[in-house]
Amino acid sequence: MPPRYSPPEGQIIQAFTFALDPTPDQAAQIARFFGARRKAFNWTLDQIKADIERHGETGESTDKPSFYSLRKRWNAEKSSVCVNTETGEIWWSEVSKEVFADGVRGAVDGYWRWQKSRAGEIKGRRVGFPRFKKRGRDRDRFTFTAGTMRLEADRRHLTLPTLGTIRTHENTRRIERLIALDRAKILGITVSRQGERTIAAVRVAVARPQQASVAQPDSVVGIDVGVRRLATVATTTDVIGELANSRVLEHRLKELRRLQRQRSRRTRGSRQYDETATKIARLHAEVAHLRQHKIHVFTTNLAKTHGVLVVEGLDAASLLQQKGLPGARSRRRGLSDAAIGEIRRQLRYKCPWYGSTLIESDKFFPSSKTCHDCGHVQDIGWFEHWTCDECASSHQRDENAAINLARWASLGSVGAPVKRGAEHQTESHSAAGKDTRKGSPTLVGAINSVRSAT
Ligand SMILES: [Zn+2]
Repeated sequence: MPPRYSPPEGQIIQAFTFALDPTPDQAAQIARFFGARRKAFNWTLDQIKADIERHGETGESTDKPSFYSLRKRWNAEKSSVCVNTETGEIWWSEVSKEVFADGVRGAVDGYWRWQKSRAGEIKGRRVGFPRFKKRGRDRDRFTFTAGTMRLEADRRHLTLPTLGTIRTHENTRRIERLIALDRAKILGITVSRQGERTIAAVRVAVARPQQASVAQPDSVVGIDVGVRRLATVATTTDVIGELANSRVLEHRLKELRRLQRQRSRRTRGSRQYDETATKIARLHAEVAHLRQHKIHVFTTNLAKTHGVLVVEGLDAASLLQQKGLPGARSRRRGLSDAAIGEIRRQLRYKCPWYGSTLIESDKFFPSSKTCHDCGHVQDIGWFEHWTCDECASSHQRDENAAINLARWASLGSVGAPVKRGAEHQTESHSAAGKDTRKGSPTLVGAINSVRSAT
């Protein structure tokens, strides 16, 4: 497998996805490209298999599968491979050579992933020998890494090699602006099919601002991601903001539930079932997109403003997952789990960009059921409002949790002042960069009663 591309200092790789609105002609051409990639992939896999078999039978030594050698073989043989069986026409010249190269690369990568997995060099589930791709069961896609790739200045069109200029379903402002300012460079574009939609994922290297400085370096906030509202932001004493699910989003979610009920009443495989399933897929994509955009605006704003941000640590949300919750509620819980993961992921890279520090609470920190007035911990079930048994103060679940999370910043840093760039790391985990930090809880006041109450 090729080594992972690492961007130059001060740059980060990001992918921006846009739905495309191709013309019928372009759509047909794209479908053809999907098939062409599959053709090259399957042909390459065939070659690799044949080489292995020949080696097994005759002992004849063959080259180790490599992208370059197999692409060369493909180029030498494509005129006999790409022949229309009915008309005898040779069709490879109608497809971008990048598409074939992508297919060859896919098969070679698949082979090496299998090899490395066999050798125990890749963690996780065992990877099997790559399989031949079948139409209809393939994740239709192809990638361009060279040739003319451009986002047009009108912010509604994308230009690709061979395919030409395609209209985008949505505005490309997010990335076009960065490119125009010379702060981003396109590395590659992957076109894929997702349900009924054609999606372009634009991979770019983005230069981030060099001089990072937050608006309020002394501000420390906690962010609780909830079931009823997307997120609540608080200082150590007060709630200062919240991110509500928008009306539009609520409406879509309601519609989604209605369609899911409708689908469950229909016969699997029937035309009506498929129709509903298509609508559901489209709505899912729309909901995901709306949420993603909302979360981006939210996290950028947070990372630009506050010196220290505290979020629930890894697994905290899933630990809270309750079995046997009524359907709608567990679905919502699922949504908020996804939201905390996404908010954390975005903050992990945005905080270093803008110069704020991200702290992730210990996963056992009971942020929602600890009274922020007296530190008493009690079981609060699923109630939104609760009253402390100890000091009788009343709390709103998310607001109380956000305040407790903000306080975690100082709990976690006793003896090690929160200072940007000099934070210690008590535990490293994969996705966390240098600038994320895990606080280690120190027993003071309120937390003592946490232990005694559990
Ligand atoms: Zn209390």
